[in-house]
Formats: sequence, C-alpha cells, structure tokens
Amino acid sequence: MAECIFCGIVEGSIPSKKVYEDEHVVAFHDISPAAPVHLLVIPKKHIASIQEVGEEDAVTMGRIFSAINHLAQEFGLSEKGFRIVNNCGQEGGQTVFHLHFHLLGGRQLTWPPG
Ligand code: 5GP
Repeated sequence: MAECIFCGIVEGSIPSKKVYEDEHVVAFHDISPAAPVHLLVIPKKHIASIQEVGEEDAVTMGRIFSAINHLAQEFGLSEKGFRIVNNCGQEGGQTVFHLHFHLLGGRQLTWPPG
C-alpha cells in the first residue's frame, strides 16, 4: 500500500468517493466536510505541496483548474460562488503532503479564515 494517503486514493488501495478522474487528476469528497460541498482535487502524480510544482507540471495544473470549474458547475456552485483553498506547509495548515485543492461551497463562506 502507498505510504501517502492520497497516492493510495489514486491507486484505489484506500477507499474514497471519487467524483472525477482523468489521466492527470482525481477528485473526491473530503472525509471530514467543512461545507455542504467539500471536494479535494489532486494530481495523480505525487507532488508534496505547491512548493514542489515545476514547469513540467503545467498540463497537470491546467487540468486541475479545469476540473475544478467542471465540478463547480456539476455540484451547482456556479451561480452563488465557491472557494478554492490550498494549504501549504505547517503554518499554512497543510496536513496531507500530497498537493490538493479544496473546493468548498453550498453555504455562505466567511473571510478571513482562522
Ligand atoms: P489539508 O489540511 O492538508 O489542507 O487538507 C487535508 C484534507 O484531507 C482534510 O480536509 C481532511 O479531512 C482530508 N482527508 C484526510 N484524510 C483523508 C482520507 O483518507 N480520505 C479523504 N477523502 N479525505 C481525507
């Protein structure tokens, strides 16, 4: 089994509720949702954080954001809006060290976050 939880989700050795998959990207429901819609959109490639993203990941990063756009429409968030979050590093609140973008919506979100 992969050591990284999200690599395990990509491989299917760790169960998840997947909502999107292409050759570069997987999206699934967060196990502990912070909003009525709370999805995680990740690269299949293990990239520890946004600090590890390089030029060679340009196609993957583009796919991530087009998947987010597609999912926001599919989950009915386009009209009222939504939030995309990337937590980076310890003080950024990152707990899983495989790059992921939170897609949150379905309620009024507040700012600033804690
Ligand atoms: P971070 O704090 O790193 O930005 O976000 C990690 C997210 O991954 C958290 O919102 C957490 O609930 C979610 N998470 C952690 N472990 C699992 C898991 O095994 N399955 C799923 N679906 N989500 C997970």
